[in-house]
Amino acid sequence: MNKRKLTTLFVGILLASCGSSRTAINDLATSRPIETSINLSQVIDDKAPVIINPGRFTVETVTYRLPKVVQGTYSVSDFGKYVDDFKAIDYNGNELSVTKVDTNTWTIANATQLEKITYLVNDTFDIESSGGIGGEQPFSPAGTNIEPDNYVLNLHGFIGYFDSLKNNQYKLDVTASSDLVRTSALQNIETKASDDGKSLTTSYFAPRYFDITDNPMMYGKMDVEEFQVGDIKIVLSVYSPNKTHSATSLKETMFTMMQAQKEYLGDVNTTPRYDIYVYLSAGKEDSPKGFGALEHHTSTVVVMPESMPVEALAKSMVDIVSHEFFHIVTPLSVHSEDVHYFDYSNPTFSKHLWMYEGVTEYFANLFQIDQGLIEEDEFYGNVMGKIQTSLAMNDAMSFTEMSENVLEEKYAPQYYNVYQKGALIGMCIDILMREESDGNRGVLSLMKELSNKYGKNKPFEDDKVIDEIVAMTYPSLRTFFDSHVIGNTPINYSAFFNKVGLIIGESKIKTNYLQNAGALIVGVNPTKGEIYFNDLVSENSFWDAQGVKPNDVIKSIDGTEVTMQNANQIFQQVFMWQPGKEIKVKLGRGDDIIEINTTLTQSYTMGKSIMKKADANETQKELRKAWLKG
Ligand SMILES: [Zn+2]
Repeated sequence: MNKRKLTTLFVGILLASCGSSRTAINDLATSRPIETSINLSQVIDDKAPVIINPGRFTVETVTYRLPKVVQGTYSVSDFGKYVDDFKAIDYNGNELSVTKVDTNTWTIANATQLEKITYLVNDTFDIESSGGIGGEQPFSPAGTNIEPDNYVLNLHGFIGYFDSLKNNQYKLDVTASSDLVRTSALQNIETKASDDGKSLTTSYFAPRYFDITDNPMMYGKMDVEEFQVGDIKIVLSVYSPNKTHSATSLKETMFTMMQAQKEYLGDVNTTPRYDIYVYLSAGKEDSPKGFGALEHHTSTVVVMPESMPVEALAKSMVDIVSHEFFHIVTPLSVHSEDVHYFDYSNPTFSKHLWMYEGVTEYFANLFQIDQGLIEEDEFYGNVMGKIQTSLAMNDAMSFTEMSENVLEEKYAPQYYNVYQKGALIGMCIDILMREESDGNRGVLSLMKELSNKYGKNKPFEDDKVIDEIVAMTYPSLRTFFDSHVIGNTPINYSAFFNKVGLIIGESKIKTNYLQNAGALIVGVNPTKGEIYFNDLVSENSFWDAQGVKPNDVIKSIDGTEVTMQNANQIFQQVFMWQPGKEIKVKLGRGDDIIEINTTLTQSYTMGKSIMKKADANETQKELRKAWLKG
């Protein structure tokens, strides 16, 4: 569907039938930028004042909205929830009557008299214990932050749009204390100091509302590093409240990773500038809790725990930021009409999350082995992890059906599978294409061909792209799509591994201190409010060697008592434990208290792993080489 195009056309016809004088006035109203401002120097009660001045309207009623859903997220955010004290002011300074239609929508009658809209915006980071963006499973990278030392300006949380003026240009003034560092990729028109010099107002220009939502900003006491990767300028902004990490400490890792990504991508059109905004959460009650990253076309916002050791943070950043950066291939250069004409209020979703998220996630894994950043074993371990996780979800659900209906109750819980099975779909297509082309073509070359055909300004038709891909490639892909992407037949991964001389077998594999190869070794007893080790703990070499038994209750970790309230936060830390760390754990067994004070060693478990076939033939070995080393 293409609702927005239809609306524009409809308005165009109406205007053409109006008298010339009226058209002239209307031109005045619609050709000037919508003037907007956010004043971070006048934050009261954690709320920032926003002013929207759209110019003079010629219609009687106008509708103003904040986004219900933002691009790159597949759930309802309702940014209107964070708006307070909404007022429409006329040219004489009086309030006009406003009707709040729903959470995100306001209509203003007598719009011809409307001079400006004013409201206050509440931030979302500090309320994630009970709400925030993403609700029960918060997703901080799409949220907003207002605190004296840091402002995460995901502008979709501050600035809205008029239904009729979505394609208008925007001017945005952001006022903030002059001692704050500010980064933004939006075009900077001018910067002015206040009379007393205490604050600075930076003016930005956005060609249309899309660019407002696509260009987050960060202001604060942070540090910024810039470096060049080929012809891309990378701007890395890091806010670490306790100064545990810095842009300087992460720069080398990001540089090595992005250099490798650029090398892997080859001649794909990229962007002259790419921004990485990193907010590190201090882990307090009012700190953000939904870790991860959200992609934009030329930037990404990352939220991670500040307490991570530097090596663990660097490794997570490689996995996360490489994924976000690969989004410049899809959906940036290859996407459907649903993405291109995104409706923030009532979005429709493409059938092809297997591509946008799945293939992107697959690239983020494959480039690391292709470019020699990881060894084969680690790559196979990552693939096996995705297989295990996806098998724990609904493996017999049509991927295109789930994708298209991802907001609905039946499908929403399966969304996480786009990063698991979605990536595996990418892998299977890659192996099939390598097999059919003597190793010459793969999923990367397919995406390059699609991006040459479409590119960032031309969407594909959602219902036709699979037919097109089949026509561009091989009939075996038709069978694969019909059975495993459109259809609901589970994929037999062993058949694909066999093509490249690999098998799935049982062996001793590395694991962490909370899981055995993906399966949790702790359980919750909600009636007693206790967290305990389950039967699987006996198969976790580290805990088993410490004498831990099934049903031991975890009383405290590193001096902090474990409760139902703080369990998530504590076990997020345990999940990131690395060998070499000193730990103190208190367990309850019956009436006894058992204390474990020791240094972590690598933990192992028996589990499924992907191994090389001893009797693989030359064809299989050659295909494996073409697959892993392009
Ligand atoms: Zn993604």
